[in-house]
Amino acid sequence: MTECYECKNGKLEKKKINYEIYGVNVGRFEAEVCDKCGETYFSEETSDRISEETKKLGLWGLESRTKIGVVGTTLDLRFNKKLIEFLKLRKGKEAVIYPESREKFIVELK
Ligand SMILES: [Zn+2]
Repeated sequence: MTECYECKNGKLEKKKINYEIYGVNVGRFEAEVCDKCGETYFSEETSDRISEETKKLGLWGLESRTKIGVVGTTLDLRFNKKLIEFLKLRKGKEAVIYPESREKFIVELK
């Protein structure tokens, strides 16, 4: 058995686990999971398969860099097309915005 690379205390066990991203289940994949800290490791081959499945599901490229713009006296933020499609955003859709910290805010779609 291999020792956990993260906590150095636990032992890694082979398990099939559900891989989820952005709240969407991508599938079950073989992983090594630490019995102490729960850290998960995928082989390079499995990582490639996860990337492939993620792309197939349209979950690739949802993270992007953007710059805050100015409209009159307020500021606005632009979303890329992939994110608009994933979130099903449209003009007039209601959202609630609040800070989680000084570096992060949450936009909840209503
Ligand atoms: Zn660990």
